[in-house]
Amino acid sequence: MSTGQRSNGAKRSLTKSKQTKESAHRKEKTVRNREEGLCPASKRCGGCTMIHVPYPVQLEKKQRRVEELLKGVCPDIHKIKGMKEPAHYRNKVHAVFSYQKGKIISGIYEEGTHHVIPVDSCLLENETADAIIRDIRTLLGQFRIKAYDEDSGYGLFRHALIRVGFQSKEVMVVLVLSNPILPSKNHFVKALRTLHPEITTIVLNVNDKRTSMVLGERMITLFGKGYIEDQLCGFTFRISPSSFYQVNTKQTELLYQKALELAELTGKERVIDAYCGTGTIGILASKYAGEVIGVELNQDAVRDAVANAKRNERKGTASNICFYQADAGRFMVQMAECGETADVVILDPPRSGSTEEFIKAVRRLSPTRVVYISCDPETLARDLKIFRAHGYIAKAAYPYDMFPFTEHVETVVLLSQ
Ligand code: SAH
Repeated sequence: MSTGQRSNGAKRSLTKSKQTKESAHRKEKTVRNREEGLCPASKRCGGCTMIHVPYPVQLEKKQRRVEELLKGVCPDIHKIKGMKEPAHYRNKVHAVFSYQKGKIISGIYEEGTHHVIPVDSCLLENETADAIIRDIRTLLGQFRIKAYDEDSGYGLFRHALIRVGFQSKEVMVVLVLSNPILPSKNHFVKALRTLHPEITTIVLNVNDKRTSMVLGERMITLFGKGYIEDQLCGFTFRISPSSFYQVNTKQTELLYQKALELAELTGKERVIDAYCGTGTIGILASKYAGEVIGVELNQDAVRDAVANAKRNERKGTASNICFYQADAGRFMVQMAECGETADVVILDPPRSGSTEEFIKAVRRLSPTRVVYISCDPETLARDLKIFRAHGYIAKAAYPYDMFPFTEHVETVVLLSQ
């Protein structure tokens, strides 16, 4: 997880102060010790740029950032919703395997490089996932399985990806190998399951390309059903190895509840859930809407979305929701060209935001309300200006801290004509 520029509030305020050199030095040393105590890798990893900033201060900084960026674009910015217990929120954990001084290590890429920094545990990550990764590393030694060398292309074991269901506690382990042959496969799986009986599925993924992508295309289920399920706002969702699923389940529930509240559904509306991933928001909305149309680019995510709607059928989904695999912008244009309309458009695009093509098409579909969920306030501000140029005005923004200890902030915004 790369988070761009680092900032270290504690250090900066020290240099600004007028203390004597000696006491400044003493304080700086304390800060350094604290840094190293919290995470020995934090300086080089770049994941948790705010690890040394007290949590209430992190929230203030994020609030200010959203306010500055949305100034003049959105008149009503609410107070950011933080977490009571912000540590270990990530339900998806990735580790890359390599060698250091002849020993297998697991960890993360140093920011902006392909150099691997060993990591045993991380303040952001689910602790069960970290424990599984440590044990996989030990097993690799015991089974004499070689870690992959990115420079030479030699070796087998590239990455481990762990996903944990927040409510369900189901655990998926994805072993990413450079070829499909895992020596002593059955023994390896058995040994891992003995160490971690909480694992509910193990998938072998083949990535034989010289690429920075973690997962290759081929998946072979070694144990269990090949995916996990988790509950979100009372609905059950299936999560495949490559599908998008929000990493902070607790905050996601609050965010989605707010998005639905802003959509003001009465049971009759035609809703578009754009950039719908595995269909989470659309499926929740389908309970309160007349009809929901989900659109998503990733084929696996669409497959999960269809299965998810079916899985929640008894709650009234499936019958009034359908999903399309398409570019969201092009799909909206096609709908507009066919003379279709919508009552509510919910969009949750990736960090790069939406497109002018999408926003122009929204105007032609003429929904009463647009609910924009964004994980990057900069692209959000840009898009809100484009929306304004096309007749949709931002009314209120609600920031959520989905990614404590990082610079990232999620915001849901209500727009109307
Ligand atoms: N709403 C979902 C997913 C949001 S993440 C949720 O909350 O779980 C953004 C999603 O947009 C990803 O699933 C990604 O695959 C998808 N996406 C990215 N570019 C897209 C495009 N041009 N058209 C449609 N979907 C796109």
